[in-house]
Amino acid sequence: MRIVKRILLAGTSLLLCLNLLTGCSWVSLGVLYGMLSESPDDSSDFYDPGSSTPDSSLTDDWEEPGWENWMNTATGSATYPESGTVLISVYLDTGLDWTEEDVALTQQYLQIAVEGLDQKGQAYQSGMDVVYDSRQDPRLAVNLSLDIPDVEDDLQLTNRALDAALAEAVDYRGLMEEYQTDSVAFLVFLNDSGVSYTIPYYQGDSAEWYWEKCYLYLYDLGGRRNYENPATYAHEMLHLFGAWDLYETNDTDGVTQQVVDYIRSEYPTELMLTTYNIWGGYTYDRVPQVISPLTAYAIGWIEDCPELDQFPTLERQQRCCFSYW
Ligand SMILES: [Zn+2]
Repeated sequence: MRIVKRILLAGTSLLLCLNLLTGCSWVSLGVLYGMLSESPDDSSDFYDPGSSTPDSSLTDDWEEPGWENWMNTATGSATYPESGTVLISVYLDTGLDWTEEDVALTQQYLQIAVEGLDQKGQAYQSGMDVVYDSRQDPRLAVNLSLDIPDVEDDLQLTNRALDAALAEAVDYRGLMEEYQTDSVAFLVFLNDSGVSYTIPYYQGDSAEWYWEKCYLYLYDLGGRRNYENPATYAHEMLHLFGAWDLYETNDTDGVTQQVVDYIRSEYPTELMLTTYNIWGGYTYDRVPQVISPLTAYAIGWIEDCPELDQFPTLERQQRCCFSYW
């Protein structure tokens, strides 16, 4: 799932009120609002920004961040699949402790997602070059505690609070320099059940939305029973590099009903169409879905594809870039 800020700013709750059949699962406001409520019992392991903890007063103090000359104003912070993007895992404490086992599980699924994508990219003579593994480099993961009761209550406030906290907690500019890349994104892990989503940068957005983030739930929407699967991680990561959701129409992106029908018919196991396997369940040891030429085009694995003649609304002005026009 992907959230377009034009909709977001027009009313997050309106969006979340809708029961959307997504490739990932159903979203319903009741469940989304069913998050947390307990106070954190032991947050000693969590980075705490202390008195600068962002809260609702943040909106009053907020200053629009400026553009810096190294930033890519076309793609946002995650630039291209081959850019060696630094993916920083952010384990958000929203009232429930993260166990070592669950953190390890998310890193394992992340590895399966990245390797699955890289393998699929090879079919297009490309790949997925990202640095993500906090088991090898612990600096790639951070525990954060935010004074926000519900991260989905106000997505803009959450984004601001996260940016403020991350600027203090993670030397991501240093990491980017060390890994020799100008590309970075954040995987915000939520210890709860819900519909995972990504807020990608769109050309024309203010710098406020520059730092792109996937919000990945530990469990899917059905309660704390089924872990989110590696395919969901892979699906959300592809949004960072420009992939469209293909399970529903989207006027902003030019995803028409014809596009959705075409994908359903020709690529029923497309990763941007579904994160379920062909039996309607999850696969946890690999990413069984396929990447269609349209998605390969969207993320810049290929420069062109025959479907663009059929669906000219999908033609990109710039490689891997979402735009409002
Ligand atoms: Zn999506």
